[in-house]
Amino acid sequence: MVSRLALYLLGPPRIERDDVPIKVDTRKAVALLAYIAVTGKSHRRASLVNLLWPEYDHTRGRAALRRTLYVLRKALPGAWLDVEREQVGLNLCPVPSTGSGQAPSAGSGQVLWVDVGQFRRHLSLCETHGHPPSQVCPACVAPLTEGVALTEVRMPPTPPRPLTLFLPLFRGVGTG
Ligand SMILES: [Zn+2]
Repeated sequence: MVSRLALYLLGPPRIERDDVPIKVDTRKAVALLAYIAVTGKSHRRASLVNLLWPEYDHTRGRAALRRTLYVLRKALPGAWLDVEREQVGLNLCPVPSTGSGQAPSAGSGQVLWVDVGQFRRHLSLCETHGHPPSQVCPACVAPLTEGVALTEVRMPPTPPRPLTLFLPLFRGVGTG
């Protein structure tokens, strides 16, 4: 059986495993998981410490990362996290740049879905519409509105944002 991890990050972060919401105890643990998932690769412990605890020295930072990994492991039982001596990542294949957004697993039966990745895939499809990137056509808006509507329905506190503001922002982020 394939297990699915879903991260909703376009709004207050929400994590689901097999459609069941997961509670992660600290905001840093959510941030760590989001960063690894969105970048789609493993990261050195030192750079994660610099990112999440820039105010800490080396020893304190490494200890904070260990505690945060412990929190994440508790929230995500199984083999989702790929924690090595120097690197931290997820046990998944990279998400393909096109397609349904469901990455094939690396034999572990685990797939990752991130709304940011889905949004970017829709955006890259807009580039095939034949208009300048600064313009928005109806074919651009439909799938993106769907995604944003889903986020807003599930999370009422998120204020609606005009898509015309949204699109250039995400286009500027790039896919790297
Ligand atoms: Zn378009």
